[in-house]
Amino acid sequence: MMETALFVAWFEEAARLVRADRDRLTRLDAAIGDADHGTNLDRGLTEVLKALADTALESEAHVLTTAGATLIRRVGGASGPLYGSLFRQMGKVLETPVTLAGFAAAFEEGVVAVERLGKAALGDKTMVDALAPASRALALAVRDGVGVRQALDQAARAAAEGSKATIPMQARKGRASYLGERSIGHEDPGAASAALFMTALATVA
Ligand code: ADP
Ligand code: MG
Ligand code: MG
Repeated sequence: MMETALFVAWFEEAARLVRADRDRLTRLDAAIGDADHGTNLDRGLTEVLKALADTALESEAHVLTTAGATLIRRVGGASGPLYGSLFRQMGKVLETPVTLAGFAAAFEEGVVAVERLGKAALGDKTMVDALAPASRALALAVRDGVGVRQALDQAARAAAEGSKATIPMQARKGRASYLGERSIGHEDPGAASAALFMTALATVA
């Protein structure tokens, strides 16, 4: 249903989208952080593609654990360990053959790992505000028995809406929280990049 090549294509497309939006992500981070989110992720995903090319990939899960470990190791800043944990945890629990239900369950566990590491919940104005709605959309799609493409489209839309919904929020985690009320009125850069990851998956599926 979803195979190793698709997971590699996910990271290739994510790297392409992040590169195309690198300056926008960095501008968002300039407003409420330290103006490095676009460059952090662009560099990290370049390293991920290298690692995937240099590894004899044995399974879908192996793609995810390789990407996760690379992001943890190579991206300075909060987003590297957080995205790294997402993919590493997904890789730890994803079984072959990958079904939509299996993917949705692994994604949910990955999001829980991000929430634990970041001590962040929905509404804190972080990547969780895009990832958790995407996870919920996948769970609903599984429940309703919709196809993979439609499920991933719905997840991408939920992530994009979740990211836009961070604009009126006050940041309670990460660097943006130092700004207090001045963080209000700006989209969270990590939520914006999380939406790109979900769009990338919907694009390649
Ligand atoms: P840094 O803030 O270290 O410069 P980045 O700029 O790469 O790292 O990433 C910032 C993004 O990381 C934020 O926009 C937010 O989405 C996410 N983030 C930061 N801290 C947390 C946290 N504690 N929990 C969840 N996400 C977080
Ligand atoms: Mg930053
Ligand atoms: Mg930084």
